[in-house]
Amino acid sequence: MKQQKDHLYKLRHSLAHIMAQAVLQIRPDVKLGFGPPIDTGFYYDFDFGDNPIQDSDLKQIEKRMQKIIKQKQEFSCSVKSLETAVEGLLDANQTYKADYAKELASSGEELSFYVNGSFIDLCEGPHLENTGEVPKGCFSLDKIAGSYWRGSEKNPMLTRIYALCFEDAEALKEFKKMRELARQRDHRKLGTELELFMFSDEVGVGLPLWLPKGNVIREELEKWAKEEEFKAGYKSVSTPSITKGKLYELSGHLPYYKDGMFPPMQIDEGDEYYLRPMICPHHHAIYGNRPRSYRELPYRISEYGDTFRFEKHGSLAGLLRVRSMCMNDAHIYCTREQVAEEFRAVLKMYNYYYNKLRFGDFRVRLSLHDADSGKFVDQEEEWLQSEAMVRKILVDEGVEFEEEAGEAAFYGPKIDIQVKNLLGREETVSTCQLDFIMAERFNLKYTNSEGNEEQPYILHRAPLSTHERFISFLIEKYGGAFPTWMSPVQVQLVPVGDHVLKYCEEIEELLRENLFRVEVDNSSDSFGKKVRKAITSKVPNIWIIGGDEQENRTVAWRRYCGGKEQQVVSLDDGLKALNIMRSERLMDNFDDVALPLEK
Ligand SMILES: [Zn+2]
Ligand SMILES: [Zn+2]
Repeated sequence: MKQQKDHLYKLRHSLAHIMAQAVLQIRPDVKLGFGPPIDTGFYYDFDFGDNPIQDSDLKQIEKRMQKIIKQKQEFSCSVKSLETAVEGLLDANQTYKADYAKELASSGEELSFYVNGSFIDLCEGPHLENTGEVPKGCFSLDKIAGSYWRGSEKNPMLTRIYALCFEDAEALKEFKKMRELARQRDHRKLGTELELFMFSDEVGVGLPLWLPKGNVIREELEKWAKEEEFKAGYKSVSTPSITKGKLYELSGHLPYYKDGMFPPMQIDEGDEYYLRPMICPHHHAIYGNRPRSYRELPYRISEYGDTFRFEKHGSLAGLLRVRSMCMNDAHIYCTREQVAEEFRAVLKMYNYYYNKLRFGDFRVRLSLHDADSGKFVDQEEEWLQSEAMVRKILVDEGVEFEEEAGEAAFYGPKIDIQVKNLLGREETVSTCQLDFIMAERFNLKYTNSEGNEEQPYILHRAPLSTHERFISFLIEKYGGAFPTWMSPVQVQLVPVGDHVLKYCEEIEELLRENLFRVEVDNSSDSFGKKVRKAITSKVPNIWIIGGDEQENRTVAWRRYCGGKEQQVVSLDDGLKALNIMRSERLMDNFDDVALPLEK
């Protein structure tokens, strides 16, 4: 595996040189910036002066590259002293490279260059043996973008040419296919088309506004979570979105988190208030409200609560990186002896949710501390004990996991649930943390059976993550087609003509009385267009109503995912089936789930 990666690295890196060489042949005056491999290929930065290139030039560059590849030019390394190196670069008018060379060699070391054909580049390698080793069809020039020299706005703006590059033509094709699918399913695109959420310049960047249809999905998830939490013995609470800074001094979050928080507000004299970046301290305040006995433990409190993080403007991305979010949070306060069972119950809940939602292969990462990094609370003994505790639970439960040092929360080990997105990139959907620190900091106690005071352990968990992150993930996973129980519109009624409108209205009323989200398409569009509209808006159930249906008090039921096939069922049976789909939360957006109709 490693070897393959190294090979791909060499391939991408060599192609970056070949691209720069080709561009130099076409534009001898161009000044070169950097040109590294990246995880989808490579890029190179160029300064074209007053005469920038266009997308239409990429073809010509690619042609030149093919020529260089055919010539099987050998890559060879040469080492030069700083003086000779800088002189050579300045002679070639490569001022960016010359500046960089000076910086690199400030220690007086020699610099390595790679040469192929007439092209020479300041570079550490490694490279292919010769340009002929580039497999046919493994790369394509992708796009042009602007980029500051060395990433700083104070420097000149360069032109970056991005290229895709994979092991071979097949792999490149596959990546392009997946990228196209991901583009079509991008939650930002679907979120706009399906009217799920919006952003507004007047409200502010990174602050999503949930539209009626998107809000349905939020509310359905919350309803589900609250039912499951109720069954699992959680109690629901509500707490404010702002708090005094004192709370975060106590928790120790301020030194770790300040950059990620909105700046403080001065309200009462001497008091700084913050929009909260996390909910934990509020829940700790509730636990600490009065003395607790061991009989009350485990004490589990949950809240779908708003939190705020100050993400940099440039890093905001749709719902995935936002400045305000609503979290499926809960905290479990328990004795040391109860940790394993509580952790197990939380794992079970995660499993239940993710299997139900068909997340497929998710990966569990056990995130541990790293004593040398200085990023974690300095209590080595406690760390090792807690980590061993979590590791044992995972092993006992037969959960497959990988360990990673340095990824823990600063107050304890955690497990991260990693799910792959469409492009195969792993995202952390949610985490569960074991905390042995905060009880002490917040002076949280309980009286044990001998009448002595002890500190509880705290579990932090958020299986359904934040609405923003989780729903963006669901949108892309399902391509916008939600199961009936979550769907913004559950049934679309399509009358074949005006003569059945009355029956349609009757059905609409019946469904609404039974709390189903139903819409009648009484537009003047053609029948075919009405059906197409229902399908593109991803309504799972389309009920077609014609004269026969009106006469027999039936509906012709077409499924969004079931193509043109339809079943005629009595209105009563239709309603019964919908009730089952909702109460059992059937995942009927998957083909293998049949309508719950009696045969
Ligand atoms: Zn190189
Ligand atoms: Zn927490």
